[in-house]
Amino acid sequence: MNSSTKQKLDIQKAESSRIGQVDFNNLTFGSTFSDHMFECDYKDGEWQNPTIKPYGPLTISPGAKVFHYGQAVFEGMKAYKDDDGKVWLFRPEENFNRINKSSKRMAIPEFPKDIFFEALTELVKIDKEWVKKGLGNSLYIRPFVMATQVGVSASPSTEYKFMILMSPAQAYYTGDVKVEIAEHYSRSANGGVGAAKAAGNYGAQFFPTNLAREKGFQQVIWTDASKHEYLEEAGTMNVFFRVNDTLLTAPISDRILDGVTRKSVIALAKRDNITVEERPVSVSEIVEAAKNGNLKEIFGAGTAAVISPVSAFSYHDTVYDLEHQDNGFAMRFKKELMDIQHNRSEDPFGWRYEVL
Ligand SMILES: *Cc1c(COP(=O)(O)O)cnc(C)c1O
Repeated sequence: MNSSTKQKLDIQKAESSRIGQVDFNNLTFGSTFSDHMFECDYKDGEWQNPTIKPYGPLTISPGAKVFHYGQAVFEGMKAYKDDDGKVWLFRPEENFNRINKSSKRMAIPEFPKDIFFEALTELVKIDKEWVKKGLGNSLYIRPFVMATQVGVSASPSTEYKFMILMSPAQAYYTGDVKVEIAEHYSRSANGGVGAAKAAGNYGAQFFPTNLAREKGFQQVIWTDASKHEYLEEAGTMNVFFRVNDTLLTAPISDRILDGVTRKSVIALAKRDNITVEERPVSVSEIVEAAKNGNLKEIFGAGTAAVISPVSAFSYHDTVYDLEHQDNGFAMRFKKELMDIQHNRSEDPFGWRYEVL
């Protein structure tokens, strides 16, 4: 494949918009989609026919490999509208690099950068009315790739479909979350696919997360699969621990997703002279810190909720409560990140990407 041979993007506009039927004050995350979507097929060794078309159902053979072997990866990113009506993305290059890293791990051919950026920016421009102003409002963007070759032999597909969908999202506050530390189930293992945004990673978490829910915990903090001694990350968020004034988070490895929010929080913390330690964080040191009052905060970091403060965690059937900190690290990083994303503050790291 010659990824520098740019193919012309075909744009087929919807005859009318569905936007009038959408109640932007009552959105359920990820369930309403904008008027258009992007589609591009991989066939005969190359990505071809990049097309923006009206959002709608696909016709796919039930024999397609994605349904049998789960060869599929995805991304999650957002577009934001500032008070002047300009639309921005946040560090989109990170998402582009990561989807190809995920694809590589799943034996899916990488997607060309020029087509990705052209499709992404054209799609956001066409559906710009779907990005609402206001801090916290955004258009959630979901690029994904799936194996479409027909055949139930267990081998990598020779055909794929790359798509981008967009879904309006509201500023949402779910309240502080209670989490359970994993002691039996695991999310990922050494040499596995934990570092990839591979579809099956998420399906595999639903059952143990349901068990945690039944006990009153919304999320699980996964631990190392071998001994459950080290804290790794949550289902769709990386996790930070504040012990006194030091921020701790697990190092990136082949078991942990390299989150854009995580690396942005680390950059902001370092700029603000907060000590950040990227190192294995043991369950025992966090339990100990909780017992002696040194554990000030735990929070998750990910594109969907930006920052989610944790109000309690359970381990060995004991629940450890954390006091909500209105002026803590979690709320501070959330505000700093959102202000940059919505063009309400300086952008010292060059993270904003102007679409229009
Ligand atoms: C997507 C994801 C994150 C967060 O990544 P961001 O780039 O910050 O959105 C963290 N952990 C897992 C497992 C994820 O899938």
